Amino acid sequence: MAERYDAIIIGAGIIGAATALALGRKGWRTLSVDKLPAAGYGSTSGSCAIIRPYYSTVDGSALAYESHFYWKDWENFLGAPDERGLARYVDCGCLVMKTAQNDYLRKTCAIMDEVGAPWQDMTAAEVVERMPFMQLDSYWPAKRVDDPAFGEPTGGTVPGAVFFPTGGYVTDPQLSVHNLQRAAEAEGAVFRFTCQVAGIARQGGRVAGITLADGETLASPVVLNAAGPHSFKINEMAGVIEGMNVKTRALRHEVAHVPAPEGVDFERDGCVISDSDIGGYARPEIGNHILIGSEDPPCDEREWVDPDDFNRDFTDQWRTMAMRLAQRIPALPIPSKMKGVVELYDVTDDWIPIYDKSDLPGFYMAVGTSGNQFKTAPIAGEMMADLIEACEAGRDHDADPIDFHLKHIDHRFSLGFFSRRREINPDSSFSVLG
Ligand SMILES: Cc1cc2nc3c(=O)[nH]c(=O)nc-3n(C[C@H](O)[C@H](O)[C@H](O)COP(=O)(O)OP(=O)(O)OC[C@H]3O[C@@H](n4cnc5c(N)ncnc54)[C@H](O)[C@@H]3O)c2cc1C
Repeated sequence: MAERYDAIIIGAGIIGAATALALGRKGWRTLSVDKLPAAGYGSTSGSCAIIRPYYSTVDGSALAYESHFYWKDWENFLGAPDERGLARYVDCGCLVMKTAQNDYLRKTCAIMDEVGAPWQDMTAAEVVERMPFMQLDSYWPAKRVDDPAFGEPTGGTVPGAVFFPTGGYVTDPQLSVHNLQRAAEAEGAVFRFTCQVAGIARQGGRVAGITLADGETLASPVVLNAAGPHSFKINEMAGVIEGMNVKTRALRHEVAHVPAPEGVDFERDGCVISDSDIGGYARPEIGNHILIGSEDPPCDEREWVDPDDFNRDFTDQWRTMAMRLAQRIPALPIPSKMKGVVELYDVTDDWIPIYDKSDLPGFYMAVGTSGNQFKTAPIAGEMMADLIEACEAGRDHDADPIDFHLKHIDHRFSLGFFSRRREINPDSSFSVLG
């Protein structure tokens, strides 16, 4: 007789694996299916895995700040061993430049005060004292490397920065998902790999399970879409897109890895750097490298793609990002061999995720993580488990959204914030900053 599962989770990335663990802890028997050969091999494997508390909304920031405490206590949170070892959280903190574009961080710091997250003001001199390999000439507006004005200072300097001590990065995002898989398995969860979902089954007006590409059918009264950049394809299969006011699509992104300048131990002395004056961010990467990403300034065209058919090679975007950071760190070496990552964000219309039910009873979604929800995934799993449990017990989450309590920072908020039916949130940065 076929195995019976309380819930099937499509996708064993960090969101799906975290939800498997949280449902397992509630006593649910879950099956996770993923078309790739192992957990975390999808877009999570390319994540920069930066942990930071500052977002553009109060609830988004509260969730992000709370995540620091989960990563800080990763071993106890998991509560189960992993033969491959545990992912490591380097809480080196985050330095964000004050610029006119971010209103010199006035609103950000007000939100930090509201959620209780610490921050420290730094003058330009203090920034350079801490990181003597940096210089603070202003270059705004950010440009592409083929612009004749690229690299020419535009007058004045960045006036200072704010340092957020409760942040950093996780060294191996793929391993962190494997950790979640092992912890979920300890609760009875089952994972199947190289299984591609090709259809969503319905019966009696609700979801009834999934069909795999080889024709196998698996029955379950609950199905969760945690398919990352493929989320819209799974939602199409389920026929639930019409009921969504906020939708998702896949955005291609490149990340550059370059060595630290000669004589600089960036792994020891560096931290996460976010710099809207040059339109980029950076963090230490193992092997004394520096990882560099784009904060999507207006000159970087957004490349919406089919997640099953996109260019996995580096383009001139790689050099543009590396050269932008070289404006800030003049001794930065830029090798001719390009290293780094080409991956996809699963982006919503307002760059805030959708953690919700759908119009098809029993079918749920944890999607649209918009390039910025690696950090919050362990909590997203718990939120989804609460939401699924409440809805399956008869709660109408659309009319009467459930609350969630962030226990470390004692902040309660409505999960209606993540509704598929919400109006586009005007407070969002409409970028990877969330
Ligand atoms: C380049 C990059 C940098 C980022 N940097 C940061 C950062 O610094 N900080 C931060 O907090 N967040 C960051 N993010 C965002 C974060 O990594 C994502 O929000 C998170 O990893 C998404 O996890 P997921 O589980 O939703 O998706 P995924 O990891 O993509 O998992 C989805 C899984 O679904 C599977 N799947 C899809 N379709 C099917 C199907 N039909 N059948 C079976 N399985 C299927 C896929 O194989 C995949 O394994 C970044 C993302 C990228 C791409």
